[in-house]
Amino acid sequence: MELKGLTIARVRGALESGETTAAALAGQVLAYAQQENRRNNAFLVFSPERAMAQAQRIDEMVKRRQPLPPLAGVPLAVKDVIVTRGLRTTCASRILANYVPPYDATAVRRLEEAGAVIVGKTNCDEFAMGSSSENSAYAPVRNPRDLERVPGGSSGGSAAAVAADMCVVALGSDTGGSIRQPASFCGVVGLMGTYGRVSRYGLVAFASSLDHIGPFGKTVRDAAALLEVMAGRDPSDSTSAAVPVPPYLAELDRPEARDLRGFRVGVPREYFAAGLDPEVGDRVHSSIERLRGLGADIRDIRLPHTDYAIACYYIICMAEASSNLARYDGVRYGVRSPRCRNLSLVECYRATRGEGFGPEVKRRIMLGTYVLSAGYYDAYYRKAQKVRALVARDFSEAFRDVDVIVTPVAPTPAFRLGEKTEDPLRMYLSDIYTITASLAGIPGISVPCGANGAGLPIGMQILARHFNEPAMLRAAQAFELSGAQ
Ligand code: GLN
Repeated sequence: MELKGLTIARVRGALESGETTAAALAGQVLAYAQQENRRNNAFLVFSPERAMAQAQRIDEMVKRRQPLPPLAGVPLAVKDVIVTRGLRTTCASRILANYVPPYDATAVRRLEEAGAVIVGKTNCDEFAMGSSSENSAYAPVRNPRDLERVPGGSSGGSAAAVAADMCVVALGSDTGGSIRQPASFCGVVGLMGTYGRVSRYGLVAFASSLDHIGPFGKTVRDAAALLEVMAGRDPSDSTSAAVPVPPYLAELDRPEARDLRGFRVGVPREYFAAGLDPEVGDRVHSSIERLRGLGADIRDIRLPHTDYAIACYYIICMAEASSNLARYDGVRYGVRSPRCRNLSLVECYRATRGEGFGPEVKRRIMLGTYVLSAGYYDAYYRKAQKVRALVARDFSEAFRDVDVIVTPVAPTPAFRLGEKTEDPLRMYLSDIYTITASLAGIPGISVPCGANGAGLPIGMQILARHFNEPAMLRAAQAFELSGAQ
């Protein structure tokens, strides 16, 4: 069947009508993805056996006319920082080159139980540290819309796989923008729920107070469908929230959800200042006009601590990373340096970590260790925590007056491969619009809102208050549908 633009609803229709079988679809997707992968490196590994076993279970249900689960037969790609039982999970790092996890992440388990068919693991920045997917220890991912450009990062492989129809939906992780920014660079939808909305059990830890698992889809509805399956309390993750999961899809289907009458949309002045590419600014502004056309009440708002967010985010995420990555010692996980045979224990750690980690990961471990060390802790880490509270307070105050906040996702469209690799600070600065929501723990979605003159996709970010994913999804879908008419 036609893979281009394939959605969850189309897969279901095709299974129910007998147009295809789950096994035939999985085979077709795998063959196509393997061929495309030579061009864009979106996948690190394919999982044909796991996919076929699951597809056959679905086909059996179809044959017996059993009720099909919500994601029956839907080809899913999983970012390689999310563990999959028996399926190699490398975090795009050399240090985990041979790591085969003994369990599945809760999100993966729930999606498979809902019928999804895992076709493979996607490439990304090493341990999700980066904004371009060039920090992969294996190969840089290329943007399917322009192979000379990055797909964004760190979940670049997942975004590229969805954009190139190498799967229908995908999972990514978002710590400071890693789902939303690649979604915008590749022209697909990417969603980060409220912190704690989706269990992190089985997400390899980068910065635990900021990490999320979230979905990519070609439509808002498909991203919402994955969220609905994954969300909810998980006893294996103590930070997962015991907040009831609303029926996101049913809410999107309500007739009132088609327009935005009575909806208050905040536009923060700080996000349209210097550094924003004019074409991106224009596209987002005209999208805001479209929201107004749907009945939304557009309001000017202020988020005054935005300027401090980059420094604050990079201190906190590096501090947490330096602690989380201490576990890769060549003894308990992954690869051990071959030199260890003749070395003492401490020298063996050093050799393993020196050989196993790439330059960006090392930079973060060193800076993170520095900001946590005695004498610097108060000046950097503690101060960053205080700034984090101020950034979060900006949002709580803004959400007294508005239902959602609309901003650009990234200051520019996809940049060229190699353009920022020599200058880490420039790479960090490109995260300016996504990290604030991460610091505040609020949900965010990136929806395509057009392209620049060169045809590169541009995304619009919609943010909502904690656990108000329904408002965010409603605004995103009303916007998306208004463009399709
Ligand atoms: N680009 C940001 C960073 O490098 C965000 C990464 C992420 O969200 N995983 O930390």
